[in-house]
Amino acid sequence: MSLQERSDLIRTKAIELGFDEVGFAKVATLNDEGDRLKDWLAQGYQGQMHYLENHYELRIDPQKLLPDAQSVVCLSYNYFPEQTLTDKGPQIAKYAYGKDYHKLLRKKLKQLLQTIQDELPGVSGRACVDSAPIMEREWAKRAGLGWYGKNGLIINPKKGSYFFLAELLLNVPLEYTVPISDHCGTCTRCISACPTEAIAEEGYTLDASKCISYLTIELKADQIPEAYKSKMENWIFGCDICQDVCPWNKFSKPHNESKFLPSEMLEAMESEDWAGLTQEKFDALFVGSAVRRTGFAGLQRNIKAIRPDTEMS
Ligand code: SF4
Ligand code: SF4
Repeated sequence: MSLQERSDLIRTKAIELGFDEVGFAKVATLNDEGDRLKDWLAQGYQGQMHYLENHYELRIDPQKLLPDAQSVVCLSYNYFPEQTLTDKGPQIAKYAYGKDYHKLLRKKLKQLLQTIQDELPGVSGRACVDSAPIMEREWAKRAGLGWYGKNGLIINPKKGSYFFLAELLLNVPLEYTVPISDHCGTCTRCISACPTEAIAEEGYTLDASKCISYLTIELKADQIPEAYKSKMENWIFGCDICQDVCPWNKFSKPHNESKFLPSEMLEAMESEDWAGLTQEKFDALFVGSAVRRTGFAGLQRNIKAIRPDTEMS
C-alpha cells in the first residue's frame, strides 16, 4: 500500500468513527518546545499542577512512548453544543456538559488502531488521550489541525476551537499534512476578555495558575483566593470566555455526539438550585461527568466564590 493510500485509509476510518479533523505529523524530538516548557515551569505558571514537571524526556520525545514511532496521527473531536446551558447564573464549561470525554475517545482511538492493524498487519501503535505525557497542541499544530492561538488553544479556520484532541502514535511513515499558518493577526479579543489576566499581554503564553479553569478544577484549597473571587464571572467549573470571544468560533457547528448532551436535570438547573446543591443532587447530576473531578465539596467552594452570601446546604 502506498504512503498516500495508507494515509487515506486512516483518515477515512477516523472520520467514520466520528473524528472531525485528521492530520499526520512526522515524529521528531521537540527540543525547542521542551525549552519553552522549562521556562514556563520556571515561572510557576503550572500552579499546583506539579505533574507537568514530570516525564520531561517522554514529553519531548514520542519515541520514548512508542520506541519505533514514526508518525503522530492527530485527531479532533467536536464538543460544541447546540445551545449554551445558561447565560445567567452559575456556568460550567461546554466540554463538561455531557459525559467525560476520556472514556469515549480512548475507546474510539483503540477501535481506530484495531482497524488499522486489521488492514495493515505489523503496524504497532499507542493511543494517547490525556493519558500519556505528549505535547498534544504542538503535534496538532504540526499535523495541520490548526494554529496555536493567542489564547493557547488550537484554532482551526473551519471549526474554531471547541474540540478535544487525541493522538495515535504509529510505527509507519505517512503522507504528512501541511501546517496552517497563524491567523490571529492583530486580534487581541481573548487577551482583553480574560477576567483574570491569565493570558500574557502579547498572547500565546498562559499563566495557568491565574486561569479560572485551573482555579475551579485543579486548585486544591478550601477557598478560591480572595483576589480572584470577584473575577470568576459566574464560572463554577472551567471557563469558556477566551473561546466564546474568538471570532473563529463563529464557524463552530454543533456536535453530533449523544454522550456530550447535557441531562434534562442539568438543563433545568436554576441559580437557586445551584445554591441549594446537595451531595445527592451532585451525584445524580454528574454521573460519568468530568465535573466529578472537583468533588461535591470543590463545586460547593466554587459556587460559594461567585455567590459569597449563599448559605450552602
Ligand atoms: S479560560 Fe477563562 S480564565 Fe482561562 S485564559 Fe481563558 S478567559 Fe482567561
Ligand atoms: S480571540 Fe483573536 S487573538 Fe485570541 S485566539 Fe482568537 S483569533 Fe487569536
